[in-house]
Amino acid sequence: MKTLIIGGGASGMTAAIFSALKGDDVTIIEHNERLGKKILSTGNGRCNLTNRKLSGDIRTHFSELGCADETFYRNIISKFGYEDTIDFFYGLGLMTKERGDLVYPLSDQAGSVLDVLRFKVRDLDVKVLTECHVKDIKRKEDGSFFIVSDKGSFSCDKLIIATGSKAAPQTGSDGSGYEIAKKLGHRINEVRPGLVRLRSKDDFLRQVSGVRSQALLSLFDDDKKICSEEGEIQFTDHGISGIVTMNISNRLHLCGKKPVVHIDLIPNVPAEDFYKELVKRRESFPKRSAEDLVTGTVNKKLGLLSLKLSGIRQDTKAASISDEGLKNLAGHIRDLTVNIEGPDGFMDAQICLGGVDCSELDDGLQSRIVPGLYFCGEILDLHGDCGGYNLQLAWSTGAIAGRA
Ligand SMILES: Cc1cc2nc3c(=O)[nH]c(=O)nc-3n(C[C@H](O)[C@H](O)[C@H](O)COP(=O)(O)OP(=O)(O)OC[C@H]3O[C@@H](n4cnc5c(N)ncnc54)[C@H](O)[C@@H]3O)c2cc1C
Repeated sequence: MKTLIIGGGASGMTAAIFSALKGDDVTIIEHNERLGKKILSTGNGRCNLTNRKLSGDIRTHFSELGCADETFYRNIISKFGYEDTIDFFYGLGLMTKERGDLVYPLSDQAGSVLDVLRFKVRDLDVKVLTECHVKDIKRKEDGSFFIVSDKGSFSCDKLIIATGSKAAPQTGSDGSGYEIAKKLGHRINEVRPGLVRLRSKDDFLRQVSGVRSQALLSLFDDDKKICSEEGEIQFTDHGISGIVTMNISNRLHLCGKKPVVHIDLIPNVPAEDFYKELVKRRESFPKRSAEDLVTGTVNKKLGLLSLKLSGIRQDTKAASISDEGLKNLAGHIRDLTVNIEGPDGFMDAQICLGGVDCSELDDGLQSRIVPGLYFCGEILDLHGDCGGYNLQLAWSTGAIAGRA
């Protein structure tokens, strides 16, 4: 059986390994000068390759996002899940470690993940054609495929498309796979940047640019709450960033024209208790300035911003701030509102939302439209939050397509 895989990233290499393990004659066509470039930039160069919580919380981390329903995700994860991933990589020679629930290579180098995949691809005699550009794909009468590239023509019995999305196109995933899928008759659901910073034109952001803070972020569409996420937010001149923001960005398309993020800067203290604490401070330190009154509650720049938004001068004596003023101040610390213009672009996105519609695939990720054609990885309209969920989808779908 001849299998040809277009795209030599995380999912394509995994598919190649599983396909070759069952005896197929496998070729990878990669248009970059090397395999797996994107893997090197994952997890800030450390590669967060999966997550221990994978099986438990599919609904939270996957299913509300893509076109596929929960059953589709469960099917994928049940066929190749957390344990399978750890065993697979251990078998390739990679030792792993955990930071909380997040799994990394023991070496803390994304390069190790890429290396062990490359070594196995080599050990299994998979043919790798780099800097190879596909020009045309035809299906022959006998059901096999004929691929024309700038490095020659190839026939194969099974064709796997593993070209990724168009997030971070500088790593090779330039979106050309969507055109290939379309030509082969597949529907592409709208492709948008995912896991990305959110842009805002709110002037006050410049005052807190660079600040990092623990916070609870809630995305609202006008007054309808879409989702909440707690973790570290980072403020920038032009918006908000950090893992919590990126996770929220995956749900931005559920909003209409006026998405707003409400930020609670001290989520773990009940609102009433915090107001009482400010009142107590005013009594204990009547001669202190308003600036000193908020010291130690939130980051200094955020404290100053909250005072400004509440209309309280920072040199105001604590004793002269009214109850109303303190309520207002507490309110701004508990609800800093950022108006969102939209997500950053594909260049800065970690993943893409949208892609090949999974309803056109069977359980084994084979096309219902073109038998013998398979898809794996981020080209599919499947995606997850930060935390190793997206690479997990690449390993899982790569393994399923490769085995099939
Ligand atoms: C900065 C960054 C950090 C990330 N960190 C993490 C993380 O820590 N954990 C996590 O789970 N996920 C992370 N991700 C997401 C994860 O990297 C992707 O979801 C995953 O790599 C997708 O795998 P893939 O095989 O589908 O696509 P890719 O890894 O993008 O591979 C696709 C390959 O196909 C090739 N290709 C494309 N088109 C063609 C064509 N027409 N012909 C030939 N070859 C083609 C590309 O050059 C590329 O090599 C991160 C992403 C980015 C950008």
